[in-house]
Amino acid sequence: MSTIAPRTLINWRRQFHAYPETGWTEFATTARVIQTLESMGHQVLTGTQVINPDFVRGYNQQAVKNSQAAAKAAGVDEGILLRIGDYTGCAAVFDTGRPGPVVALRFELDCVNVQESTCTSHTPQQENFASSQPGFMHACGHDGHMAIGLGVAQWLMDHRDQLHGCVKLLFQPAEEGVRGARPMAESGILDDVDFFACGHLGCDIPSNTIVAAPEKFLSTLKIDMSFQGKAAHAGMEPHLGKNALAAACHTTLQLLSLPTHGEGMTRVNVGVLHGGEGRNVIPSHAQMQVEVRGENEKINNFMYEEAMRRAQGAALSFDVQLETQIMGEAVNFVPDDEMTELIMSIARDIPSVEHVQRSMNFNGSDDATVLIKRVQSHGGKAAYFVIGSDLKAGHHQSEFDIDEDQLFTGYTLFTQLLERLLLAR
Ligand SMILES: [Zn+2]
Repeated sequence: MSTIAPRTLINWRRQFHAYPETGWTEFATTARVIQTLESMGHQVLTGTQVINPDFVRGYNQQAVKNSQAAAKAAGVDEGILLRIGDYTGCAAVFDTGRPGPVVALRFELDCVNVQESTCTSHTPQQENFASSQPGFMHACGHDGHMAIGLGVAQWLMDHRDQLHGCVKLLFQPAEEGVRGARPMAESGILDDVDFFACGHLGCDIPSNTIVAAPEKFLSTLKIDMSFQGKAAHAGMEPHLGKNALAAACHTTLQLLSLPTHGEGMTRVNVGVLHGGEGRNVIPSHAQMQVEVRGENEKINNFMYEEAMRRAQGAALSFDVQLETQIMGEAVNFVPDDEMTELIMSIARDIPSVEHVQRSMNFNGSDDATVLIKRVQSHGGKAAYFVIGSDLKAGHHQSEFDIDEDQLFTGYTLFTQLLERLLLAR
């Protein structure tokens, strides 16, 4: 029942790959998705129809404006940009008009802040679809996810007479930094959803392998910390200064020596620390980008509270002000057994799939878990699977590249899932 040529998926993936955009700036990308979906005949929601601005985090106004201007300059349809407004992301809502379950599938739009390899052995260079945006690259596989999503959209149109129920294809912004899922969930778009599924390419799983239900998705919080002190001449009157950089450094060392938790995995990282104004000035400001993770929400909250206490303690010690802001979040994930069984039985029937694995340790975070939690909270069932892909380099590296043959495997898995859930009987 496949209706799409594998080559079409590859072409879509390459178009997305050539124009990567980072979280909340995916204007050209969202526009391309909308245009493709509408050319198939889909109804598409975008902007504040799918994003609740009250829950948007880690949003950089200037980067948004720059990206809107760049999209316009690149020839993106202005009418579509107007519809998107200031919030990227969109969703196709495919209603068969016949009673049945509501299914939501999720695909991500954003790239990562990585400079793509210029090496001539790197396939995107060889085949001429490398990133045209310096410093940005689809180095996580989201370009492939979008291509699969569009393939599924075409399949829906081709099978509309045989299906019942409703399908929502969510194209989510800002997965990196785990920022986009919460505002999408808070738009209410998932509140009638009975089944939710999404997948990820790669994840250190080889080609032709499906992992039906990875475990150990870490709950995480991303925190920006900002210390404000008082500048002073470092030679003449250092005693009048309040050293914000010292407070930040002190906090860094404290965070990196946080105790672990006896009931499960923990992680903490200080990824960025900027501070000070000059060699002979007592530093009046410092900014840190911090993240904590835990095997579940309880452990993650433990890490968060410990981290906050250390920062507050340092602020008190150095007599500086501390401001903190949550920039992103994801929760842990408990798969639903009936969905896991369904994914496993579908995967076993896909000709290109050689190995079907029930589980693996994910050991990372994905804010799909926030969408899943929303669906499960009203009794819906959810699946998150891994579509294996041989990789030349790990995720978020400049030589990252997916095995494009796996796009068709992913497409087949999603469409077979829809067939099982929605085929009119
Ligand atoms: Zn990813």
